[in-house]
Amino acid sequence: MMSQYTPMIQQYLSIKAAHQDAFLFFRLGDFYEMFFDDAVQAAQILEITLTSRDGGSQDRIPMCGVPYHSSAGYIKTLVENGYKVAICEQVEDPKQAVGVVKREVIQIITPGTVIDDHLLQDRENNYLVSIERENDLFAYVLCDLSTGELKGYTYIGNQLSFIQLLLSQGVKEIVGDEELHTDWNEKMSLNGQASISVQQETTVEEKFQHLTIDITPLPLLKAAGRLFHYLNYTQKRSFQHLKPVEYQQNDLRMKLDAFSKRNLELTESIRAKGKKGSLLWLLDSTMTAMGARKLKQWVEEPLFVKKTIEKRLQLVEELINEFFIREEMKEQLKSVYDMERLIAKISYGNASPRDLVQLKRSLLSVPVLKEKISQIPGEYASEIYEKMKDHKELAQFLDSAVHDEAPVQIKEGGIIKKGYNAKLDEYKDASMNGKAWIAALEQKEKTETGIKSLKIGFNKIFGYYIEVTKSNLSMVPAERYERKQTLANAERYVTPELKEKERIILEAEEKISGLEHTLFLEVREYVKQYIPGLQQLASAISELDVIQSFAAISEQYRYVRPTVSEDGKVNIVGGRHPVVEKVMDAQEYVPNDIFLNNERNMLLITGPNMAGKSTYMRQLALTAIMMQIGCFVPAEQAELPMFDQIFTRIGAADDLVGGQSTFMVEMLETNFALTSATENSLILLDEIGRGTSTYDGMALAQSIIEFIHERIQAKTLFSTHYHELTVLENSLPSLKNVFVSAVEENGSLVFLHKVIDGQADKSFGIQVAELADLPQDVIQRAKTILQTYEKQEKNEALPIQEVSAAKEEVQESQLSLFAEKSTVSRKRDLKENDVLKDLKALNVLEMTPLEAMNALYKLHTKLK
Ligand code: ADP
Repeated sequence: MMSQYTPMIQQYLSIKAAHQDAFLFFRLGDFYEMFFDDAVQAAQILEITLTSRDGGSQDRIPMCGVPYHSSAGYIKTLVENGYKVAICEQVEDPKQAVGVVKREVIQIITPGTVIDDHLLQDRENNYLVSIERENDLFAYVLCDLSTGELKGYTYIGNQLSFIQLLLSQGVKEIVGDEELHTDWNEKMSLNGQASISVQQETTVEEKFQHLTIDITPLPLLKAAGRLFHYLNYTQKRSFQHLKPVEYQQNDLRMKLDAFSKRNLELTESIRAKGKKGSLLWLLDSTMTAMGARKLKQWVEEPLFVKKTIEKRLQLVEELINEFFIREEMKEQLKSVYDMERLIAKISYGNASPRDLVQLKRSLLSVPVLKEKISQIPGEYASEIYEKMKDHKELAQFLDSAVHDEAPVQIKEGGIIKKGYNAKLDEYKDASMNGKAWIAALEQKEKTETGIKSLKIGFNKIFGYYIEVTKSNLSMVPAERYERKQTLANAERYVTPELKEKERIILEAEEKISGLEHTLFLEVREYVKQYIPGLQQLASAISELDVIQSFAAISEQYRYVRPTVSEDGKVNIVGGRHPVVEKVMDAQEYVPNDIFLNNERNMLLITGPNMAGKSTYMRQLALTAIMMQIGCFVPAEQAELPMFDQIFTRIGAADDLVGGQSTFMVEMLETNFALTSATENSLILLDEIGRGTSTYDGMALAQSIIEFIHERIQAKTLFSTHYHELTVLENSLPSLKNVFVSAVEENGSLVFLHKVIDGQADKSFGIQVAELADLPQDVIQRAKTILQTYEKQEKNEALPIQEVSAAKEEVQESQLSLFAEKSTVSRKRDLKENDVLKDLKALNVLEMTPLEAMNALYKLHTKLK
């Protein structure tokens, strides 16, 4: 029953009812208070004291609070933990309020909508994503509120891969309808990486329609509509800095799924989980935070449009040639601040005076930057030049209005420059004169009274006073001095003329701070009209920054400009893995060639462990990605086609992902690659099939190779330790064997890291054992056993399936079934048929890894 509570608690409860999914920060004087469950939970998370208060009911109400002035840190903790915070302020003057002061939620701070510096990473975007789902189509809009960027996508595929993709892009918050909310919250393991919010409404309101003019797919429009409603609901203000939704058409980009991104260590290294050791880390020589974010976006979304790739490559080449111009550009870029986020703050109305100074400083670098870029030939350079309006007038205006040393706070004064506003200057003069007059008065009184230690001071309660120490009291002119305050060893006095001056000074100061505040708000408001132009400028600067970074890195590591091949040919001479090369200290990286064309589109790579198989495969993928983001590539010479997708799969035994990689996951990933790849894709399969028993694994590996060879014809590199598979070269015309060589030299095994056509010598395992000084008897015996095995294998070698027959049998979406059919069918008995049925019935996409393990275990036991 509401009525049992005090009116204030009733007000609290009714506001809380509308904000169930957020911590309600309820403003009471200088504190934000929380009550009931919010208080109990927040006290725990924030490690603050839980108290209670009387709220009119029988029981006391749990309560905790944080001071308004230090609330930022607490909000940060909550938001970083995935929670939302609804800020509820008093919206009327408590002095004028009748009854309980009116309060309203003025903003809801959520993980995906933060724009405050201390809640954001400089060099990373902070994404909120809004989703509209229609069967297996996901339309979604990525929004970074702190920069105003909106990007629209469509994705077709299974839910799990889609979520992985979102998480790999660093999405902090997901907005969907109630169904998605329930579905994902209950069934999908987001591991606290992103929070899910609900917004049902999907129509695009009129005031946002200018942001969606380029959007045609209806589901995408709905996703955008949902996003805008959510922004409205949480932020409760206008968004002048939101840029139109850029529709990222699928056929204009290289598609990379989350597994591949992770396996290729594009933005994060697998072991350390940090940026270090990733491709992004290697390529990042950007000077600005905006450039760093743009680079990350480019790395995550390589292009599939030859013209744009060439355009970028051209500018990289020009900048490599123009070392001095590039160096001067770099100097200028260093003084460009994070304009995108400054603009967002201006639009939000919370830019500080210092932010405006940073904006001005950034603008002052533009003319020099423009002059430099104007000296560079080419289409892209002039495009950037055109987008770089220097906004001289705005720079001058800001320079005339705001002090260079302006504070962060807007209430402190000291913001507006002299000469900007006559009235303000007048008040400042008055205050200055008054202060000078007081300094003079002190001198005068000293002489007149003869009290050398007499001084004039000021405090907030008594204002200006004349202070005389006890020992000098006899010299005080009692007729003029009026006593004001007595201290332990001094008396304080005022005189009528001092009072009068004080009035003038204090009045002036009050007016100054009031007027400075008003003027600053005006200045900030005025800047708003420049937002679109400034955004264009910011985007031009960030692109220039990325390209200069490419040029710097390409020059430093001797990369070359690749040629985009039109006929699917890969011809890389002296190629290197850029990151491995960079982190190698003592040894030299051994360059390798890669040649592929339509008659040779699959390489089966063998070689001892640690020889460099994975490195060789990744080298090709990274080279392709570098080309498709417009950077030079690590090789002496490189020609390669644009790939529409790259798939990288790693055998489960490698277990790279902290124990998560079970055989089931490996198969799921492989399934995804096989069903989505086209002949324009690149597939890297590293030791696939390794996570199960030898014959199983080999059978799967072989059938996967056959499938790709016949059905997909994608460029494929397949590394394996199953030497038996090398016989496939005889039956599959476009498959070729290569191996990574190693030799024994003076009794030690030396990895040459050189990739050569043909197949590897298999006996290195025993050689390694020999190196480890195992007894000669053991080694000799092992060699004999090995020979026996080899003989047996020759007799038993699995016949290569009639490929066309396999083709008939293959079921595209059910890899395990397909693998089973094409290879093991000879041995199948009824029991196995049963197991198959069970397997078919599993709803794999809805299972947790643990459930999958259990199911797998059950099937396995049945077969025993
Ligand atoms: P594999 O996949 O054959 O087990 P990796 O590709 O993981 O082997 O390579 C093992 C190590 O060998 C790498 O970590 C790297 O240090 C080194 N390596 C690989 N390729 C080269 C190369 N071309 N030149 C120099 N060192 C290399």
